[in-house]
Amino acid sequence: MRTRELFAPTLRQISGEVELASHRLLLRAGFVRQLAAGMYSLLPLGLRVVRKVENIVRQEMDAAGAQELFLPALHPLELWEKTGRAQYWGDELMKLKDRTGRPFCLGGTHEEVVTQLASEVKSYRELPFTLYQIQTKFRDDPRPRGGLVRVREFTMKDAYSFDRDVAGLDCSYDKMVAAYHRIMERVALPYHVVDASGGGIGGWDTKEFELPTESGESHYLRCDSCGYAATPEVAQYKREVQTAGEDELPLERVETPGQRTIDQVTEFLGVPPEKLVKTLIYQADERVVAALVRGDRDLSEDKLQVAVEAKKLEMAAAATIERVSGAPVGFAGPVGIKEVEILADEELRGERNFVTGGNEDDLHLRNVNWGRDFEVNQWADLRNGEAGDLCPGCGGPLTAYRGIELAHVFKLGTIYSEPLAAHFLDEDGERKPMVMGCYGLGTTRMMAAIVEHSHDDAGIVWPMSVAPYEVVIILLNHDDEEHRAVAEKLYEELPQEGFEVLLEDRFERAGVKFKDADLMGIPGQVVVGRLAAEGKVEVRRRGGESRTVQVGDAGTALREILSTNLPA
Ligand SMILES: [Zn+2]
Repeated sequence: MRTRELFAPTLRQISGEVELASHRLLLRAGFVRQLAAGMYSLLPLGLRVVRKVENIVRQEMDAAGAQELFLPALHPLELWEKTGRAQYWGDELMKLKDRTGRPFCLGGTHEEVVTQLASEVKSYRELPFTLYQIQTKFRDDPRPRGGLVRVREFTMKDAYSFDRDVAGLDCSYDKMVAAYHRIMERVALPYHVVDASGGGIGGWDTKEFELPTESGESHYLRCDSCGYAATPEVAQYKREVQTAGEDELPLERVETPGQRTIDQVTEFLGVPPEKLVKTLIYQADERVVAALVRGDRDLSEDKLQVAVEAKKLEMAAAATIERVSGAPVGFAGPVGIKEVEILADEELRGERNFVTGGNEDDLHLRNVNWGRDFEVNQWADLRNGEAGDLCPGCGGPLTAYRGIELAHVFKLGTIYSEPLAAHFLDEDGERKPMVMGCYGLGTTRMMAAIVEHSHDDAGIVWPMSVAPYEVVIILLNHDDEEHRAVAEKLYEELPQEGFEVLLEDRFERAGVKFKDADLMGIPGQVVVGRLAAEGKVEVRRRGGESRTVQVGDAGTALREILSTNLPA
């Protein structure tokens, strides 16, 4: 390809709000253009990168025994209603109607569609298998931003495994995880494997592959000694059993007019937030529960849901809170609360003489003690992990990280195969639901993540494995016939040596050509300049080594200089 013919409009400056380096550079270098909020066109260079990412993903999926298929992006909404996810996703699911008024949605993911397909399986003899596709997904994100990281339309590789039992699922899952390790290696991205919550998809053994970067939107905790990592909502930590060296003081009622929030109460009473205990009332399926955590901690709804073994967990309605506490919202406390089970975070075992809501308007209680003033029905780990907590594995400190989620894996079990009747006849003659796993990886997001990780002040630094072209021949003086002949000769010969070559032959100043080549980030550069008269060219690695060689040796020099995926 010649740059004179290439559709890659570059920009010196970007107008508007662009936070991420990847967003800025992909726009500036002419890889993508925004159509509307959260919707991007892939221009020829961008598409070449995404295709290379997809091919790596495809090769690794195929090598792991998964089979590629292609499912519709348009789904009958009733399918999503059968699994309850139409309601769960709510407005995030893009919905529309056909001309007859039949409701449809644009697939945000494909569990329903693939599970319905798999229901054609009759016998255990046809299991296991793993299906995958590389497909466009739609999510009506209320705040799309971050360029290609958080968008409303994107491309994803999604794979689904079908097994007879959990042991089979474990095996299919391990194969996908191993494939993801190889993919990350091949696209030259560092990553952390992070324990996470199933969220809108559900299941267990949920793990996210995160690119650690300050500009990322994900938050997680990690032990840098042993590598344990988890999102705060599910993070385990080593709990130190402390017994407060305090005697129990007499319970006191304190008027706290209008003081509802932790900040208000701590300031009003002059006590530190860790001496307060928050009482949060939840509806857990049919039950109402009160969860107690220290005032300076955040309750983990994921952990609470596990502790109460509820299918559905949500904040109780105001009317429910007022009924059980007998007070307006903001004054609930464990002492004298009615019709609820009290779950307390294990950290409170060591706490004495704390402050809680008083279950009366404008009232708090001081010197509250569990056991004496109220009974705890269940102790459990209920709070989010925090930086500084101790690693559950080795006891080292957990550090806060931010990252870009590159991929995720889930064990789904039968949560889709049961409602969608994806059954098979097992060896023992019994009809059973298939046991599923699900494995996603965003391919357009991966392009952005690679740029986010690998760039410098001048532009993108592509790894060889996904670079849109491997070599750019930069012809500095278009008017010099001799130079032009050298550039044309290289443009003809280098592809024969196996390189994907771009010829920079625009009528631009040398400075512009160098700048754009660095901005585009093509790993190999061959500069055809003054030395061309002596039959020599300069061979360079973008962001690395440079050599002057005879024209005939350019291929050999390039092979050496480009032997690593990223510049050394
Ligand atoms: Zn550790």
